Amino acid sequence: MDKIKNYINGELVEPISKAYIDNYDPSRGKVYSLIPDSDERDVELAVTAAKAAFKMWSNTPKEQRARILQRIGYLIEDNLDKLALIESVDNGKPLHLAKLVDIPRAAANFNFYATGILHYAANTHSMEDTAINYTLRQPVGVAGCISPWNLPLYLFTWKIAPALASGCTVVAKPSEVTPMTAYLLSEICMTAGLPKGVLNIVHGLGPKVGNAIVSNKDVPLISFTGGTKTGAHIASIAAPMFKKLSLELGGKNPNIIFADCDYEKMLATTMHSSFSNQGQICLCGSRILVERSIYEKFKTDFVARTKQLTVGPPLNADTKVGAVVSKSHMEKILSYVELAQQEGGKVLCGGKRKIIDGDFKEGYYLEPTIIEGLPYNCRTNQEEIFGPVVTIMPFDKEEEVLMMANSTMYGLASTVWTQDITKAHRVANEIHAGIVWINCWLLRDLRTPFGGVKSSGVGREGGFEAFDFFTEPKNVCIKLK
Ligand code: NAD
Repeated sequence: MDKIKNYINGELVEPISKAYIDNYDPSRGKVYSLIPDSDERDVELAVTAAKAAFKMWSNTPKEQRARILQRIGYLIEDNLDKLALIESVDNGKPLHLAKLVDIPRAAANFNFYATGILHYAANTHSMEDTAINYTLRQPVGVAGCISPWNLPLYLFTWKIAPALASGCTVVAKPSEVTPMTAYLLSEICMTAGLPKGVLNIVHGLGPKVGNAIVSNKDVPLISFTGGTKTGAHIASIAAPMFKKLSLELGGKNPNIIFADCDYEKMLATTMHSSFSNQGQICLCGSRILVERSIYEKFKTDFVARTKQLTVGPPLNADTKVGAVVSKSHMEKILSYVELAQQEGGKVLCGGKRKIIDGDFKEGYYLEPTIIEGLPYNCRTNQEEIFGPVVTIMPFDKEEEVLMMANSTMYGLASTVWTQDITKAHRVANEIHAGIVWINCWLLRDLRTPFGGVKSSGVGREGGFEAFDFFTEPKNVCIKLK
């Protein structure tokens, strides 16, 4: 069975413990490879390597850093088919989605930040003939980057690329649930000529490896994407150590549909925003709020289209909904469907595990599920489920839908469907979320800030704000007389 390795100080190495964790193929529910069960000793080695490389890397001209990072981006593009296949097996997502979204975006992360750093500038402030201030932006040091399983290489590189472009060195931990593409990234970095120690990847469990990165005194900055509970735990360790912290956390995003929308476009996009990646995208619209005059029509059409979605093995060309990521996650999602029924909800379609015959019968497949009849403030409508499960609710007035949309502890993303431009801007202005998509979903311009409000996180990644995060401003004031 394949054993993956840590990437420390430019080499692929075994964990010190020599212990390994099972890695499951969710489409078959079977172990197919082994991941290092690393601990704080491996993290210490990685931090030592990253610290030793920092002076050299932060003093490497940015043009040269950019060249190496772009080489990594191009190598990801050259290996698109292989990476997509591995990500699909590791995660359970349809292969076409990995090919279309995940891997191209991982390459784009490197290409965008490699070229972006060349245009990143700091300010000067003149005090007429008294003094001149200039601001230096200096890389913070060793960055700790921790990422989740839902968009494995996409989110891993979304942190690593701007950190490296800024001149930081990195100790990174991918999710133990989907480690494979991060392992291939280590090989790509070696081929691209990334100097040793600049990027270190330590595989293993969150409470062991993640915790050791967060609490290491030589890691002054943490960029984390994952669940809100884990984020709170990380903040409780990092805050008293005064670390720079970016937390990209959970969501319970509203998809607001007004009667005056472009109905066909809305319906087609709502299928994606509900069930793409088995609903395991932090930006999926899991609460669908529909103006009452079109509610019944929407319900009929949405249920009919959802029933047509092919649930199946991720590598099949016609699969629209693959396997969810793990057995425990599948059970969590099913427990929410049960909760929804206890809370008075009616399952309009789906709601069950789907068994696929043959080799895939142990796989973690769920039927895409639509639930109606729940109040906006029940647990099903307030807590993140993170699976192919959405609720639909009617509304009558704009103020009412805004109240419902803003009622959760989360504030990551939202979608608004209307042809009335004034209403669109008015509603966007009132929604408590880091992103509002109007008449679209998941359209991302990498120059724009990304992140959530409330329990969806603190800090912003994306665009040049990522460079602000991975660098520290230092003002130098020179008196002229
Ligand atoms: P998770 O919080 O369980 O794990 C995320 C990462 O943190 C993993 O690498 C894990 O090993 C690590 N970790 C776990 N415990 C840790 C600890 N004590 N100390 C340090 N690290 C630890 O999240 P998940 O289940 O992998 O991902 C799903 C969650 O991520 C969902 O809530 C989803 O909304 C969220 N998410 C948010 C965004 C965003 O941009 N806001 C993007 C994707 C996913």
